[in-house]
Parts: sequence; structure tokens; C-alpha cells
Amino acid sequence: MPARIIDGNALSAKLRGELATKAAALTAQGTQPCLAVILVGGDPASAVYVRNKVAGCEKAGIKSLKFEYPQDAAPADVLGKIAELNADPSVHGILVQLPLPKHFDEKAVLEAIKVEKDVDGFHAENVGRLSQGQEAFIPCTPNGVMEMLKSIEAPLRGAEAVVIGRSNIVGKPMAMLLTAAGATVTVCHSGTRDLNFHTRRADILVAAIGKPKFVTGDMVKPGAIVIDVGINRLQDGPDAGKLCGDVDFDSAKEVAGAITPVPGGVGPMTITMLLVNTVVSAERALAKSRG
Ligand code: NDP
Repeated sequence: MPARIIDGNALSAKLRGELATKAAALTAQGTQPCLAVILVGGDPASAVYVRNKVAGCEKAGIKSLKFEYPQDAAPADVLGKIAELNADPSVHGILVQLPLPKHFDEKAVLEAIKVEKDVDGFHAENVGRLSQGQEAFIPCTPNGVMEMLKSIEAPLRGAEAVVIGRSNIVGKPMAMLLTAAGATVTVCHSGTRDLNFHTRRADILVAAIGKPKFVTGDMVKPGAIVIDVGINRLQDGPDAGKLCGDVDFDSAKEVAGAITPVPGGVGPMTITMLLVNTVVSAERALAKSRG
């Protein structure tokens, strides 16, 4: 029987409806949630991501500010803007779209964002807080995956979870969240020996690799939950130009119990969780201002 499809668009629509209600309530109390987005350079994919984030804000009643810099921008100018936004009490979230041009020190830029406004959850302090189970902004993509697992009431405690990928923005925080939820987690990467051995015993398999259709049906345990984080644009063949994930959807869906599609899976959830973090930040700012 083909797998159940975990629909990221439908779940996003539900969560964004709830968010709009919260944003309206905050606005009525004089605190409209506000997200500032910084885009450096002309990378077309980054421009699309920023456009989608800004559009998501508008629909949810969240104010958005967009600051664009050319590819050869001086890092000091961007750091100056971050300092200005850090000090502005009407701004609740600051996001710097990655990747940055090569002459930027990405880590220094992310660390310059005030922890309380780091709605992407990439600041080292937020990462540390997450690893210790303290209140933190959780990176949006793995947080969105957890919401998707929750939506299908996936049994996490005691489950074998395998995450392919160990990046700071997806793989590592994903492993931390699944561990915190009680799963037994294995993190695989390019140096993993016999990847299939690991994937075939996964009750929950998360693919965050960046390689189109890398995970095929024969790598999936029957009945497993397969979460496809990948977003790749096919270069060749009849589907050239189309988006696809890191999972070969057609073969994997015949084996898995549940699976996320691309597009319409994790992608929309990532933006939704960014909006959630921005509203949470505004709620905290309002509570703080009232002492
Ligand atoms: P990175 O390139 O930073 O990380 C890729 C990871 O995959 C690395 O840890 C790498 O291992 C591992 N890997 C590469 N090749 C293999 C292999 N043959 N076998 C096992 N592991 C391998 O990518 P990101 O984490 O940033 O992104 C992953 C994917 O998710 C991309 O397609 C990206 O576009 C997408 N993405 C989607 C988002 C969304 O909203 N849906 C958000 C963010 C990313 P090693 O560490 O050893 O190099």
C-alpha cells in the first residue's frame, strides 16, 4: 500500500491561521510582530526564499522589513544594520539569508544577532540552549519536521531514527530534537560506512543531504516514516528545472508508511516555523515590557 503523504502545505495553512490570530491579538496590544530580513548578493534561490518569507509574514499579519545589499557589500555595513535592528524594540526577529558572499565571516554575522531576536536559531547560544533542553529558538527546518511528526502522532519514544546529514542548520539540530523526544538517533554523513545498513533499520528516516533522489525505496524499512528535507533543482532529463527532494519519492512511497513530498512538504513548514518564532519573540518582548 503506498505511503500516507504528510502534507506540509495543509499543516502550514492550519498553523499559519492560528498564528494570524495571535499576531492580531499582539497588534491590538500595540506590539505588531516584526521580522527584519537581510539579503546580501543576487543569488536567485536566496531571493526566492526571502520573497516567500516576506509574503508569509504579510499573510499572517506580521510586519516585515527587507534590507538588500549588493554582492560586494562591506561586512561592516551589514553588521551596522544588525546593530541598529538589535537596538530597535519594534523589531522582534532578525534573519540574515544564507549563504553570504565569501568575503563575509558567516559565523561573526550570525553571532552579531541578539540572541532574543535570533528567530532562525543559528546563534551559538541558542544552539547551546537547545542542546541543554533550555528555552531556545529552534532552527526552523528541524522544528518544522517535529511539527510534521507530531501531526501524524508518530511514536518517537524508543523509535530508531536515522538522520542523513550533519549540517548546523538541519542535521545536527534535527538529531538533538529527536533525541530529546526519546528516539534513538543515528547521524549519518559522507563518511558513513554502509549507509544502507543504517537507513534500512530506521523507523524514522530524515534525509538532509542535498543530492537529488539519493534515498531510494530499497534503502527504506517497510512502514517507516520518511522525511525529505532536500530541495534540489533537477539539471538534466525530461524534468530539468523541476524541484525534487533527496528522496526518490516514487520508489520510497511504495515502501514507507508515511512520507513528505517535495515540493509541498518540509519547505512550507520551514517558513511557518520562522513566523512562529517571530510571534513568540514578540510575545516575550511584550511580556518583558510589562515587567
Ligand atoms: P549541507 O550541504 O550543509 O549538508 C549535507 C550533509 O549531507 C552533510 O552532512 C554531508 O556529509 C551529508 N552527505 C553528503 N553526501 C552524502 C552521502 N553520499 N552519504 C551520506 N551523507 C552525505 O546541506 P544542508 O543541511 O544545508 O541541506 C541539506 C538539503 O536540505 C539541501 O538539499 C538543502 O537545499 C535542503 N534544505 C531544505 C530546507 C527546507 O526548508 N526544506 C532548509 C535547509 C536546507 P559531510 O558532513 O560528511 O559532508
